Amino acid sequence: MPAWFTKNESEPRLNPVFATQKLACPHCHCPVEAAARAVTLRCPNCAKPLQFQDAIFNRSSVENVTTLGQVRVHRKATLKGTVDCGSLVVQGSLEGMVNVRGEARIDAKATFTGSLTTRRLQVERGGCLRGTLCIGESNAESHTA
Ligand SMILES: [Zn+2]
Repeated sequence: MPAWFTKNESEPRLNPVFATQKLACPHCHCPVEAAARAVTLRCPNCAKPLQFQDAIFNRSSVENVTTLGQVRVHRKATLKGTVDCGSLVVQGSLEGMVNVRGEARIDAKATFTGSLTTRRLQVERGGCLRGTLCIGESNAESHTA
């Protein structure tokens, strides 16, 4: 439904330096415009807090993570849960339902098990991905005419 979704798809280049970023609220999927360096913000539509912090996992944990920042699972760490994040780096093991708005990276010796939806995917030689994979826009609402 939001027009900028279509625009984003036709212009997939990433621009790391910009004053504002257009995002989809992970809770209600409505478009949100935020300052590039925002740390916390409330969605103007559903009023739920949006997290921009990176979530770094250094040990094994079972957790559901929702952030517009990066989720990183370090070597020797295991994360199980539902993840909705801006970008993903797996160096250890990740198991669950994962939705990445930007790029997902699975490093050498890393393992992903479960369901992965991402815009871009990079798997290093030796990295392992088991499960279902969807590359492209995950938000079903964007497909409605
Ligand atoms: Zn919302």
